[in-house]
Amino acid sequence: MDLNRYFSILKSLPEEVRLVAVSKTKSVEEINLLYAHGQRIFGENKAQELKEKYELLPKDIEWHFIGHLQTNKVKYIAPFVSMIHAVDSLPLLAEIDKQAAKHHRTIPCLLQFHIAQEDTKFGLNLEECDILLSNPQFGVFKNVEIHGVMGMATYTDNTTQIKQEFKTLATIFHHLKSNYFKDKDYFTEISMGMTDDYLLAIEEGSTLVRIGSAIFGTR
Ligand SMILES: *Cc1c(COP(=O)(O)O)cnc(C)c1O
Repeated sequence: MDLNRYFSILKSLPEEVRLVAVSKTKSVEEINLLYAHGQRIFGENKAQELKEKYELLPKDIEWHFIGHLQTNKVKYIAPFVSMIHAVDSLPLLAEIDKQAAKHHRTIPCLLQFHIAQEDTKFGLNLEECDILLSNPQFGVFKNVEIHGVMGMATYTDNTTQIKQEFKTLATIFHHLKSNYFKDKDYFTEISMGMTDDYLLAIEEGSTLVRIGSAIFGTR
């Protein structure tokens, strides 16, 4: 763990940007150490691993699920998860709504967009998103709230390209805000930026950076 790097990252974040410390594959001891230094938001990408860590760690941690979530795994995290970052289908949203209702909760979600020039990544395009949000079923959900958007840039050294992809995500955010979420005060989040590109993401309007290896070391 690199605490100096952790504190220098924190110092570099504008006030409106929050840090999700990505702790996937890392031990509860390592998470506890960062917790002891004040970190409260942690990100995980496997439902069962997240559930096990939740049970062992302090209950005021805000757990963010940041990976691809399978419908049949929602039940493991629905009782406690603070935000689900990578929602990219109506059936997944329907399952989150159903499981959240069981626990009398409302779960904040982000819609994931495919902004990279790579076809290995999940996510919606704007047209698919418009179809999702126009579906009458979407209007019926009572236990999910869409708080914004999430995306991952291409893994490349080309900073112009990365900036362009983040710009695209910010444009999508503003489009959705004015077309679907104008009166929703909670629609505020743009989750973008990781260890190698978070500074570019902040320049393009990120509100949540998801940083793992810079803090915890390589996986
Ligand atoms: C692993 C992961 C991160 C963190 O990546 P680093 O390069 O280690 O900072 C961020 N977002 C998602 C979706 C991830 O899966």
